[in-house]
Amino acid sequence: MQLDELYQAVILDHNHNPQNFGVLTDADSAAEGYNANCGDNITIYLKFDGDRIADVQFSGDGCAISKASASLMTLAIKGLTLIRARQMAEEMLELLSGKQSLPENSEALGDRIALLGVRHFPMRIKCATLPWHALLQAMVKK
Ligand code: ZN
Repeated sequence: MQLDELYQAVILDHNHNPQNFGVLTDADSAAEGYNANCGDNITIYLKFDGDRIADVQFSGDGCAISKASASLMTLAIKGLTLIRARQMAEEMLELLSGKQSLPENSEALGDRIALLGVRHFPMRIKCATLPWHALLQAMVKK
């Protein structure tokens, strides 16, 4: 599958059926991301277990890209250590903004690779990066 087709398929799938969507009522930390260009407003909730992310959810309103990015993020970071989750967020921000080219082991990105299709649409990059920025903010409070 071409990246463009994968991009469309994954974004539509996660927009239609977002994973870990809802308010995490016993969260230890939360952070809100707002993208004025598009109107995306998404909150990331984290529950910690020692130095790990025990649970993560997101809520709010956003376009298909911001919701798909948040949904994919929750699947990718649940159970990770804070250090690893921070590394992943920084890597995703560099990849999405085009500052870093695809890594050799791009299979490790899983479905998250589909998000990189956003690089063809510079106006939408902020939609895709928003949940990852919010995640970093939510972890700062830990
Ligand atoms: Zn958006």
